[in-house]
Amino acid sequence: MTKHIFITGGVVSSLGKGLTAASLGMLLEARGLAVRMQKLDPYLNIDPGTMSPYQHGEVYVLDDGSETDLDLGHYERFTKSPLSHNSSWTTGKIYLNVLRRERRGKYLGKTVQVIPHITNEIKRAIKSLRTQDADIIISEIGGTVGDIESLPFLESIRQFALDAGRENCLYLHLTLVPYLKASAELKTKPTQHSVGRLREIGIQPDILICRTEMPMSDAERSKIGLFCNLDVRNVIEEPDAEFSIYEVPITLHKQGLDQRVIDFFWNKTGGLPMQLIQPPDLTDWFGILDRLKNPKDTVKIAVVGKYAKHKDAYKSIYESLDHAGIKNSVKVKVTGIPSDELDLSKLDGIDGVLVPGGFGDRGIEGKIDAVRYVRENKIPFFGICLGMQCAVIEFARNVCGLSGAHSTEFDTSTAHPVITLMDEQRNVTDKGGTMRLGSQPAVLAADSRSAVCYGKLKIAERHRHRFEYNNAYREVLQKSGLLVAGTSPDGQLVEIVETAEHPWFVGVQFHPEFKSQPTNPHPLFDGFVAAAVRRKNQTTSP
Ligand code: GLN
Repeated sequence: MTKHIFITGGVVSSLGKGLTAASLGMLLEARGLAVRMQKLDPYLNIDPGTMSPYQHGEVYVLDDGSETDLDLGHYERFTKSPLSHNSSWTTGKIYLNVLRRERRGKYLGKTVQVIPHITNEIKRAIKSLRTQDADIIISEIGGTVGDIESLPFLESIRQFALDAGRENCLYLHLTLVPYLKASAELKTKPTQHSVGRLREIGIQPDILICRTEMPMSDAERSKIGLFCNLDVRNVIEEPDAEFSIYEVPITLHKQGLDQRVIDFFWNKTGGLPMQLIQPPDLTDWFGILDRLKNPKDTVKIAVVGKYAKHKDAYKSIYESLDHAGIKNSVKVKVTGIPSDELDLSKLDGIDGVLVPGGFGDRGIEGKIDAVRYVRENKIPFFGICLGMQCAVIEFARNVCGLSGAHSTEFDTSTAHPVITLMDEQRNVTDKGGTMRLGSQPAVLAADSRSAVCYGKLKIAERHRHRFEYNNAYREVLQKSGLLVAGTSPDGQLVEIVETAEHPWFVGVQFHPEFKSQPTNPHPLFDGFVAAAVRRKNQTTSP
């Protein structure tokens, strides 16, 4: 029987439910269990694809092209859980399915209502992850208990235990235990209220994870256990991570979180599977933490983008840089520079520059200026999606002399449309649904820098873009030294550009940041950070 863990949050938002869910998934996998993960978000957008990064942080893209919440990035970085469209649900997507069914007359004349029709659809979404080989499904419910819009989700997970059996459903609630400086004490009341709200709708949490700024005393833990009706061993503390988010699983493990979950499911039903008796093997994870805490050096990387000041907008990029730092035994110090206020002197002393993806023309000239600066000054450069397009534009303008070269996204009447809509290239007139999304294969040029990094010639990477390198300019750009290092298997779509006359200048049309893990850094991020280390050693050596 598949076991279910439901993760809810209370008191305030942004407590790090996604990180906690991912950490628990990682610990359970380390115990030998097959884990599946999903996020259920109460907002009305069908998916986060249409939301500004200011609102909700980066849009995370899956292999199957689903545009999802950034928490799914944590799931993929921490676990092996295969993710798909079934891992990402919103109120909008749930209603869309119900309303489509209603229009097709599938409800046979009945009144369509939140209970049971919406709640049934939510339960179906949860069950969609059940497969023969899945031991545990972790469903994270977005939002905060007490919000009007999360009610149908909470009602559904309450009902879920009626069908699946209470012994197969574990409710984990994450709350905040604030520290009041004036009275120098931790306050447990908000947690009590939050659990009270959950119990009003019929959910008694089994495990409580308390986000704290200060260590909790045994007395405070007992008080929470008593008032919230929980075994005190199931009151777990999650302090703010000191060095890195990758400490969170270890902190939770040390307090026995994975053991408590296993005791809940298997001691109740008996028949503890053999492998669960063993403690988890966390050697790799301890290795990562060790390298993170003892870097041999520091490199400075500038991220020049539209949302550089917004910490969640390029979440996966920052994480990928950290992963490459772990691999290279260096601390990667990232400076976010908003491209619309770029002053090139800010790039002084920088060991590498990354221009990330984006939409819209704000700050575009700043990005192009940054590319020129790093190309001319031989500073390692990594352009991702729009960043790669900026590299093509810059090269066309300043090396090939194609003055005014641009992307038709920003200048429809440019004399040199070096980046154009894909469909213009393919002579398709219908512009609907033109975004190229999800994993697509590519082949690399054997002698390219990218092929050396990957160590193979066939790759698959995730995409999210509408515009493309214009093949009409391939010859002139290549002749001047902007090499095509990777294309789609039919050779039609340019995936990677590089210049040979430079220590590390790589632009990719895809998003490598969605496929990097702390235990397995992405080869291009690895190569970029290694180049930054080389640059630093050259510039600082006497
Ligand atoms: N705006 C560009 C395009 O649509 C780049 C997209 C991106 O960077 N994700 O092609």
